[in-house]
Amino acid sequence: MKILVSACLLGLPCRYDGASKPHAGTLSLLEKHTLTPFCPECMGGLPTPRTPSERVGERVLSQDGTDVTEQYRRGAAMALQLAELYGCEAALLKERSPSCGCGTVYDGSFTGTLFSGNGVAAELLLQNGIAVYGESEWQKLL
Ligand code: SF4
Repeated sequence: MKILVSACLLGLPCRYDGASKPHAGTLSLLEKHTLTPFCPECMGGLPTPRTPSERVGERVLSQDGTDVTEQYRRGAAMALQLAELYGCEAALLKERSPSCGCGTVYDGSFTGTLFSGNGVAAELLLQNGIAVYGESEWQKLL
């Protein structure tokens, strides 16, 4: 299967703090599947490192109050373009991220509080028929 994967889960240092988040289960999927890494925040034009952001309704705001919704939407559109280009049937994405989170994301208060919702890229992929999983669900893709 061809799977779109959050690049930070594969060890690429593209997170807001310049770090990565390598995930052993995700990396093990390389033995069985073709993984296409992507980072919608970088692809949308944001630098690394960058100020952390959270979803606030339909918008995305950085902790300093900057509205970065346009960059997040651009990155989401490019993620969908990549998924279609490579024929990805599924996406394995970093949980709780304002871009990649699926089902639960931070609530915009920057207090670590979670609420039900999706990251901008995850939401667009779901709307276009791509099955989205969080990294804790990696075994569903074995
Ligand atoms: Fe990882 Fe997604 Fe955040 Fe990029 S936007 S660092 S791929 S969680």
